[in-house]
Amino acid sequence: MPQTLGNIHSIETCGTVDGPGIRFVVFMQGCPMRCLYCHNPDSWDFNVNKKMSVEEILTKYEGVKEFLKNGGLTVTGGEPMAQIEFVTELFRQAKEKNIHTALDTSGIFFSKTNTQKVDKLLEYTDLVMLDIKHIDATEHNKLTGHSNVAILDFAKYLSEKKIPVWIRHVVVPTITLNKTYLSKLGEFLATLDNIQALDVLPYHDMAVAKYENLQKPYPLKGVPPTTKEQALDARTIILESMKKSKLENMEQKSES
Ligand code: SF4
Repeated sequence: MPQTLGNIHSIETCGTVDGPGIRFVVFMQGCPMRCLYCHNPDSWDFNVNKKMSVEEILTKYEGVKEFLKNGGLTVTGGEPMAQIEFVTELFRQAKEKNIHTALDTSGIFFSKTNTQKVDKLLEYTDLVMLDIKHIDATEHNKLTGHSNVAILDFAKYLSEKKIPVWIRHVVVPTITLNKTYLSKLGEFLATLDNIQALDVLPYHDMAVAKYENLQKPYPLKGVPPTTKEQALDARTIILESMKKSKLENMEQKSES
């Protein structure tokens, strides 16, 4: 029996930053990560219950679909893969209606020894937007409270399966805005064959009020927002490192 009720944080009917075109964006409730820069701390709690059915969501989609030209449906969070069966059923029914589907995930729940459910979800997923929070294992732990092993494994798995991926990376002064780490990220991305886009997103502090409302201390107090120029420079560093590594990898292959 497919899971047809999901725990939904909110819906945005005309999103412009969560995939190609204008998107209908479903934010799932619940996330195990604790990214210091998270701007949706209200989506963390798995116990908040706001159930919606696949049918309800797709009916809402139908109501605005004329505005979603060149777009489609994006599921984000929270962490959508925490409710993988629901998202699979949502995407399955969306594909029946020829709707473009995008999954925005941290990949934290991926396990390379148990891919059955993920494979099923990917059958109905047109695009994965994979958030790589930090390329360095120790720093990733400090930034999110979790290891990055599952996330990097998921990136490799998506490349093996040839699933189109947009990589997203938030640059934060003192944390990820660092030439060594950005170059290392480029080296890793050079090993993947399925990247269609690289979104380097500047950290902003617009969520301060949300933390105050939730009576949580703001974790990045005093860290300045990243400027657009810094984000552009960071993207250039990643792309240059990627290009250099790809060339080196090709040279090594042709020598052997
Ligand atoms: S994975 Fe996303 S929702 Fe979860 S803590 Fe990080 S930024 Fe927030």
